[in-house]
Amino acid sequence: MGCPICDGESVPDYRPFCSRRCADLDLGNWLTGRYSAPSDDLEDTSEPPLAPSNPNPKLH
Ligand SMILES: [Zn+2]
Repeated sequence: MGCPICDGESVPDYRPFCSRRCADLDLGNWLTGRYSAPSDDLEDTSEPPLAPSNPNPKLH
């Protein structure tokens, strides 16, 4: 087991994540899930919020 976002190898600086990006992504997911209702239309930047059935964003 490694990064909960992309299953990459975690690093001490960002554990359990593999990188700052994944840490930010997780935080973003947390904030989105916490404060925003499941609406995909409002704060769409580049990728839509993740549905509960698809926890892994595309990082490649
Ligand atoms: Zn990662």
